[in-house]
Amino acid sequence: MYCRHCQRRRNIGETDTHSPRIQLKAALDYIRANPEIRDVLVTGGDALLLSDLTLDWLLGELHAIPHVEIKRLGTRAPVTLPMRITDELCTILAKYPPLYINTQFNHPKEVTKDAKKAADKLVAAGVVLGNQAVLLKGINNQPLVMKKLNQELLKIRVRPYYIFHAKNVKGTRHFVTRIQDGIAIIEQLRGYTSGLAVPTYIINAPKGGGKTPISPQYLVSLDENKAVLRTWEGKYVQYETP
Ligand SMILES: *Cc1c(COP(=O)(O)O)cnc(C)c1O
Repeated sequence: MYCRHCQRRRNIGETDTHSPRIQLKAALDYIRANPEIRDVLVTGGDALLLSDLTLDWLLGELHAIPHVEIKRLGTRAPVTLPMRITDELCTILAKYPPLYINTQFNHPKEVTKDAKKAADKLVAAGVVLGNQAVLLKGINNQPLVMKKLNQELLKIRVRPYYIFHAKNVKGTRHFVTRIQDGIAIIEQLRGYTSGLAVPTYIINAPKGGGKTPISPQYLVSLDENKAVLRTWEGKYVQYETP
């Protein structure tokens, strides 16, 4: 399953292949040799499209590296293929804590009964769940839709993590929103619902510049010992620091 709005479209979809074992072994060797690597994210494509056998091996290898403090999987399976979250898979995942899974729900309608069942199983296996939504024109670029999405996610124990600004990739221009839409969404979440339902709005800076958080302006001015803040309700207040 490929997402039409994928920002890595250029890397996928030409041929369907998994990374060969020899390539994964080379990656594991690199991780073993570099003790500053404390967080390993297995993504793709979709990490849960690996077989149970390969996942068991790969997570086991990572788990055995003392400096790898946490492991993460990137997958849309809880949304698009919830039947992939089998008891057998969960038995494997439960062996390798701490394991974080970030998935991608983009609309409250995707939070189905089957998705809830998948999330319940993953949580029972000790997996911590997060969501990386993509802001898509005509799909979810309305504050009320995003608020509903994030509240529905919390109900199934998926913590909203990021909202990504859609990248202008060939063939997906019709999904790209204004940055103002993203800022308005954050503005209408903060203060209006649980802080747990407020993800970080991110633009991927060009040329590998990295994730860049974009936020409404709440800090109006800042001097050595005085700040002016704008609260979520739009009140301006002075804040003195000693
Ligand atoms: C998003 C991303 C990560 C993970 O970033 P976090 O902010 O730690 O979730 C890592 N590598 C690349 C290339 C990424 O795009």
